[in-house]
Amino acid sequence: MHKPFLPLNASFGVVFMIAAFMTAPTLSYGDELNIYSARQESLIKPLLDRFTALTGTKVNLVTGKGDALLTRLKSEGLNSPADVLLTSDAGRLYRAQQAGVLQAFSSQELNAAIPAHLRSSEGQWYGLSVRARVIVYAQERVEPAELSTYEALSDPSWKGRVCIRSSNNIYNQSLVASMIASQGLEKTEVWLKDFVTNFSRPPAGGDRDQIKAVAAGQCDVAIVNSYYLGGMITSEDNRQQEAASKVSLFWPNQKGRGTHINISGAGITQSAKHLVSAKRLLAFLATDESQQWYGEKNNEFPVRAAVDISETLKAWGPFIADQLNVSELGRYNAEAIMAMDRAGWK
Ligand code: FE
Repeated sequence: MHKPFLPLNASFGVVFMIAAFMTAPTLSYGDELNIYSARQESLIKPLLDRFTALTGTKVNLVTGKGDALLTRLKSEGLNSPADVLLTSDAGRLYRAQQAGVLQAFSSQELNAAIPAHLRSSEGQWYGLSVRARVIVYAQERVEPAELSTYEALSDPSWKGRVCIRSSNNIYNQSLVASMIASQGLEKTEVWLKDFVTNFSRPPAGGDRDQIKAVAAGQCDVAIVNSYYLGGMITSEDNRQQEAASKVSLFWPNQKGRGTHINISGAGITQSAKHLVSAKRLLAFLATDESQQWYGEKNNEFPVRAAVDISETLKAWGPFIADQLNVSELGRYNAEAIMAMDRAGWK
């Protein structure tokens, strides 16, 4: 299903990029690059190997959880060996920016490749893939006509029917932050109080666990990131596939602001010793070829609509995405956490 990379000389984009490198006065082949990545090794390593093959730059990869990597970057400060931070969620990239571990740089290439609402306006981080936070529902117990918006899931008709993970998860914090950005804190607080009373069980587990709970009849709807459902549909594990086959995806808020989306992205660290290679890597990850592979490998959407998506994503049909600048998810993060806490969202 995943298209293999094009051979080196078969892609205009890649050839063009190499030509661009060759004209760069600061070019130095045989360089090194140190990456801290919250993205699993299997989801990024092949792309980094490709980058090495193209540029001769040796890449050293450290993988870990997003929050742990940020803590590590903060404690290492300017002594950190890291040149690039790869992580998910704009809320987390915003945190890294606020913590002062990223440096601003402007790149015409990246600004042209990545829509303005999917990157930091100061050039501290750039979105490299898009994920949607969607509603999944039990085919046997829910009619799609019953569904409309995230907001509508606070209705008493959903009492005891909603599964969602904990409020300490950044995906939910960013969803609530998007609500605060669109309708204000007061309305969001009212919604939160009612929404929480509709939970079928105290929040537990990750997004895949919520999908499994819907499939198992513990709840009728769940709010999850789209790529988890994609990953279960394409899983080699029969139990995951079977659970995924019992649920369907619903795009929320299509008649209003659009479905809440988020990004995975990257920034160059304040401590970067290999600046030229770091910039080159980010530009590489934004090329059509990288975007397609990066998106398909994790069932995510590319940052540009023009780039092809996987068959799994195509089957879900087109959707309208919220055009909110994802920096706002970071800006309202603290308010979102406090509001979720006040509402008793565990
Ligand atoms: Fe995730």
